[in-house]
Amino acid sequence: MKAAVFYGPRDIRTEEVEKPKIQDNEILINVKACGICGSDLHMYKLNLYTPLLVRPLKKGGIPGHEYSGVIVEVGKNIKRYKVGDRVVALANGGMAEYVPVPIIYGYNVYKLPPSVSYEEAATLEPLANSYHALMKGKPFNGANIVIFGAGAIGLGIIQCLKALDIEPNKLIMIDLSDSRLNLAKKLGADEIINANSENVFSRIIKIVGPMPTFRPSIIPMPKVDIIYDCVGYIKDQKAPLVLQQAINMARQFSGTVVVHGVFEESVRLDLTFMVGKEVTVKGSFGFTPLEMRKSIKLLENKKFDRSKIISHEFPIEKAKDAFETQCKTNESVKVLIKA
Ligand SMILES: [Zn+2]
Repeated sequence: MKAAVFYGPRDIRTEEVEKPKIQDNEILINVKACGICGSDLHMYKLNLYTPLLVRPLKKGGIPGHEYSGVIVEVGKNIKRYKVGDRVVALANGGMAEYVPVPIIYGYNVYKLPPSVSYEEAATLEPLANSYHALMKGKPFNGANIVIFGAGAIGLGIIQCLKALDIEPNKLIMIDLSDSRLNLAKKLGADEIINANSENVFSRIIKIVGPMPTFRPSIIPMPKVDIIYDCVGYIKDQKAPLVLQQAINMARQFSGTVVVHGVFEESVRLDLTFMVGKEVTVKGSFGFTPLEMRKSIKLLENKKFDRSKIISHEFPIEKAKDAFETQCKTNESVKVLIKA
């Protein structure tokens, strides 16, 4: 079968590899579409987290954990799934014609309703992550919400907010790419800020207004209730650290920062304002099975259009081009690979 095999930084090759043989507790999926995740890019560029992101082969490994497909074989012990089921599954190795998936009941394989396309379904893993991150922030009507990073996760947070009929006072998206920001606006952001060309902090104060303070403050304090950091720390980006900006702009006493981005190395933080304003900082990673099922329902009920975040599709023969395109954040949002 054809597969995209990762060997090291910027070295991914489409090769002919052995078709997997399944164990009794596994299913074999014929992959229809597989997305490239932000975490795959950290691996592709820097060889970070590679063991967590590939199905290892004797040499190299097959990445891909955001995919959909159809079951073509089931192991002896499998009762809940059958050949022909359309599914989304969580196991590495999706950038290939076939992927073996060990079944962990209720957790890692989900059947797709007929109305959900394979392409949309390939975006379910990031969608469920967006849903999870959104909920960690406990969003409420009238909240001022800032999202850093208009990639698949940040844009998915907007889509989930809208689908759940949560009505923020101001929903603000910050990114470095105008094309991604314009997409955020189309999906429902009230305000967009390009951090390359604007002073983020003063613009935020203009939009949401300052907090009245009862004691002198060194910096003005914006009324931002919830901040989603969907950037983390990317080594080759020269912008100021997002987490620091997020902490600085959080509302005094009740401000919450949800960190869903990945950090490519250790960072230095000044926590004066986290302590002084009693800001809550929460990590966010993955999702629960219930959140995945809710995400599938949102897709089934056509609550939003996930095709809007799919910017490119490449055949598996062009896996290298697919990764290079996903690296160009100005051109791409979510790149799909199809075997
Ligand atoms: Zn992912």
